[in-house]
Amino acid sequence: MVKKITKKGVEEFVSKELAKAVNDRMHCMDERYTKEQSEGAVRVPGGDFGMVMAFAGALKDEGTQLTPEEIIERYFKTVKRKRGDNAKLYYHDDDSDHEIGCGHAAMAMSQKYDGLYGSLTYTEIRQLYVVFTNHPNTSLTTLKGEHGSDGVLFIHGESAVSPIPYSVHSQDEERKEKFFVVDIDRAYRFIDKATPHFSVGLQKFVNAEDVKRNFLLQLKTTAGVLAAGLSKYDIVINPQGNFQMEQLPN
Ligand SMILES: [Zn+2]
Repeated sequence: MVKKITKKGVEEFVSKELAKAVNDRMHCMDERYTKEQSEGAVRVPGGDFGMVMAFAGALKDEGTQLTPEEIIERYFKTVKRKRGDNAKLYYHDDDSDHEIGCGHAAMAMSQKYDGLYGSLTYTEIRQLYVVFTNHPNTSLTTLKGEHGSDGVLFIHGESAVSPIPYSVHSQDEERKEKFFVVDIDRAYRFIDKATPHFSVGLQKFVNAEDVKRNFLLQLKTTAGVLAAGLSKYDIVINPQGNFQMEQLPN
């Protein structure tokens, strides 16, 4: 049975589980991440693999043809600038018998959802996944158990220019509550900063707005299925860690 957490309950969860932002990693929004697994990483569907999908979608929309190897290498070089020489490409699996434990990656690679992830086909996404997972600098996190989310938290900063020093953990282990967490504004800032580096040497520079559009579309497709019927909240956190929240229509 799905237990309903009230708005007040969500507010208590967020105050208790505020996480200091750590910008040198990007993990999936999956609610099964423990605090130790996600820390304050930028949370987006699919982790770095999901972000690669957004860049690949933008490239295809703009008519720039790169091989999956070139896309992953460009992305890796881009994150290396920020994360340093020990940079990793983050993604996850789980300990169940799913073929692929990340719902975002699994859906995007499934023929059933073909066409719902933008211009990329499911076979193109499969090729990207093979190249991504074979990259020597990946970091794989294995999540435990089955899905069981109580809702979705979309995290925002106070303004487009102020830094966003917080995220929210996915789990309150004492209260057994779990949320999908998506750091919308931190993901946008990442895209804005990463796109010029990603584009170096390309005839046509990638437009960050195209990456954001693909990111949002891909997020909506996955959340539309995995988070169907769950309560969704926009949480705006200011640099002092105070926040405001608003429940979104279902
Ligand atoms: Zn995932």
